[in-house]
Amino acid sequence: MSTTTTEKHTFQAEIQQLLELVVHSLYTDKDIFLRELISNASDSMEKVRHLEGTEKHFKDAGADLQITLELDKDAKTITLTDRGVGMTREELVANLGTIAHSGTKAFLEQMKETGGSPAGLIGQFGVGFYSAFMVADKVEVFSRSWKEGAENLRWESDGKTGYEIEETEELPRGVRIVLHLNEKSADFAEEYKVKGLITRYSNFVGFPILLDGKRINEVEALWLKNKSEITDEEYKAFYQFAGKAFDEPTYRLHFSADAPIAINALIFVPGENPEKMGFGKVDAGVALYCKKVLIDPEPKGLLPEWLRFVKGVVDSADLPLNISRETMQDSALVRKLNGVITKRIIKMFEKEAAGDPDKYRAFYKKFERFLKEGIATDYANKDALAKLLRFETSMTEAGVVCGLVDYVARMKEGQETIHFIVGRSRDEIESGPYVEAFKARGLEVIYFTDAVDEYVVDSLSEFEGKKLSSIRHAGVELEDVDGAGEALSEEQMDGLCAFLQETLGDAVTKVSGGKRLVDSPVIALVPQDGMSPQIRQMMKAMDENFKDKPKVELELNPRHPLVKKLAEARVSQPEIAKLVASQLLDNALISAGLLDDARETIRRMNSLMEKAMS
Ligand code: ADP
Repeated sequence: MSTTTTEKHTFQAEIQQLLELVVHSLYTDKDIFLRELISNASDSMEKVRHLEGTEKHFKDAGADLQITLELDKDAKTITLTDRGVGMTREELVANLGTIAHSGTKAFLEQMKETGGSPAGLIGQFGVGFYSAFMVADKVEVFSRSWKEGAENLRWESDGKTGYEIEETEELPRGVRIVLHLNEKSADFAEEYKVKGLITRYSNFVGFPILLDGKRINEVEALWLKNKSEITDEEYKAFYQFAGKAFDEPTYRLHFSADAPIAINALIFVPGENPEKMGFGKVDAGVALYCKKVLIDPEPKGLLPEWLRFVKGVVDSADLPLNISRETMQDSALVRKLNGVITKRIIKMFEKEAAGDPDKYRAFYKKFERFLKEGIATDYANKDALAKLLRFETSMTEAGVVCGLVDYVARMKEGQETIHFIVGRSRDEIESGPYVEAFKARGLEVIYFTDAVDEYVVDSLSEFEGKKLSSIRHAGVELEDVDGAGEALSEEQMDGLCAFLQETLGDAVTKVSGGKRLVDSPVIALVPQDGMSPQIRQMMKAMDENFKDKPKVELELNPRHPLVKKLAEARVSQPEIAKLVASQLLDNALISAGLLDDARETIRRMNSLMEKAMS
């Protein structure tokens, strides 16, 4: 190496924005820079462990896999060295000069909108390395890759507009980062301070961390230890470390099994829903190990998609070390792991729900969408998941919830169907005409009030052999009950139905006298294969040209005074009777949430009022 050339690069525009934010708005989070750098070092050494198992010609195996930190108070520097895979020139440019992660872009947008981030989000978004510029006004990265013929390189930047790369003296494999601390951050060169950060954030890193020659962290594979030897505090610390989290875990599941496959698993349910702030889908959060060697930090297919919110570790001694990430999803072993662990997690939810319903309720409020996604997408587990649903019903008090198991236990003798209705809220459902007939017969109706419930019940279709059926639909057979007042005769009803059918024409598929209603004169029923109001709303929202005249069946209440009056009026005052007929249909459509255009309704109302007063 006779001459060295220095390459100058400018940061990608997004990186500049990111740095701007990291340095200015995230100031309060600046403690985390060390965690980020240590975690990068550790990831890189995990790759070395993996290569040792898979690459025959991997050189320099057996080198001390450890992270060393050196502090220099006078020079105000922190030097962090790892023996990981290092980076080539191309990798330095790609990894430390551009944003590859879509998550980082989402993070940037969120930051711009809110003008700040709740503590702890940096790590989740992999802003990682750049957090060094929160404490340093100059960062040097010395790097030599594990690859054949790799250069000895020095990367340097002030974290403003760009960086330089040049060849440097002979280096060992790995990365050495030198942070030149800025004025305000000089105290990070103090031993007590750095030691505090390591024990707080990086205690479970799977490699020794040495600070000025002294070992600081405990290297423990907590998931392989005996449950009785682990305290709640240790579990929590491990959760926060493994899940890059700052909240308390809600539930945890720690188990081992030998058959049908060897598993040691330690899984946590977070305290907060990671997708709730509009950040979009999170990646899989349970890492896959084989005898303490990391195989994949975000394995796809290890757990079903809907379980992406859980965090933790699965270690299986049965996995081949060289399993490739690409084919993992297709591996029979991984499928087996998936099956066993998913069932254990669902069982845990069931147990927790029974043991502490209030706690489960709080969890459910935050995470119900994941469980529902499971019902709709995870065929093998949907029945087990259905048991985890919670809802109010016509028999619970407002605000009190129960599950399908409770519902089935309360079913009347001979009841074969689980009745439900999807609506916006309990109030809206109860003020409509649908529930009254079921209440009068002592039949319980489930109130589903979440926008996605329509799809959930659709994919469920039955529970423990009992069909789920919407009470908005026609064709529900109900036994007769004696209502107050005399009913119109069958003959009178036939005449009235024929009159309505003729007056309303296409707008109704059928008009009949029914047994359902108690207090309302008429009800609009959606045909069995018809579109529900919720689905129609969605279609309308998605397509402004959506036009669909809802086809409904009308069911009349033969005991209702209005119906009786109409039966007379169709003979004595046919003109008014026609207006009333149309108005009855519109009223029923409004109650059903199916009336799209009310202009005609209002005109007719006005004319009816006029006639009523003349
Ligand atoms: P993240 O760690 O979330 O990927 P970073 O910005 O911290 O984001 O790092 C970007 C990339 O730079 C890493 O994915 C890794 O490929 C590379 N990198 C960072 N630090 C090291 C290191 N110590 N050794 C090897 N590669 C590293």
